[in-house]
Amino acid sequence: MLYIGRGDPHHLEDSRGWAAVAALSPFRQPSPRRMKTGYLIDMDGVIYRENQLVAGAVEFVEALIASGTPFIFLTNNSAPTPEDLSVRLRHLGLPGLSARHFYTSALNTADFLSETHPGCTVFVIGEGGLLAALHQHKIANDALQPSYVVVGEGAASMEKLAKAHACIERGARLLATNPDNWCPVSNVETRPGAGATAAFLEASTGRRAYYLGKPNGFMFHRARRQLADMAAGTPESIVMIGDTMETDIRGPSSRACMPIWS
Ligand SMILES: [Mg+2]
Repeated sequence: MLYIGRGDPHHLEDSRGWAAVAALSPFRQPSPRRMKTGYLIDMDGVIYRENQLVAGAVEFVEALIASGTPFIFLTNNSAPTPEDLSVRLRHLGLPGLSARHFYTSALNTADFLSETHPGCTVFVIGEGGLLAALHQHKIANDALQPSYVVVGEGAASMEKLAKAHACIERGARLLATNPDNWCPVSNVETRPGAGATAAFLEASTGRRAYYLGKPNGFMFHRARRQLADMAAGTPESIVMIGDTMETDIRGPSSRACMPIWS
């Protein structure tokens, strides 16, 4: 396993942070070993910032597509569906992507529940991406006696929080799509994240939440499986490109991925 980040002599950072990516990207001479590399790519701060693509993002993704290199955008944002994300990137100037190029914490949550607790029910505080993922896995909504309260990204009304609190008091377990307490809105603004909503319910009920999404190993486990499906076989090595040490880098550092801090 190799860690490449700030302070590492192999990390050739420039003002945009993209040199670190280029050091292992298909821009370099192809070799049989590199062709077997798969990429997991964080979105916010790596591919785009606010409503602008990061310099070099288009060329990088085009090179991945042209070389047949498997890649997936990996995001803790549970609000959008993969289809929403492909449309968003198309509007920003990155065409040619489809739903299979994205794996969100909402998909990870639905995968986790259907794998570990088939037939469970949920009370959800979250947006369309989370609701759609749960619906796809036939996980039913239940506002009376759910197995889980699931907290994702999005505005939580006091009425919803009170209902979630009551469900947890009646025995529901608390599950968060991701641990992010805040999410960037612009270079100078943030908004509360799913982690902050889950923390509210932890405080009110005294129960601890279980956090999926990055850096939880299940997020990387399922993303690796999706990469293997795309590549028709498990890639020889997997590179994770991210800009957040706690989520993008800490998770794969212990899971046989090569993290790159951009
Ligand atoms: Mg990021």
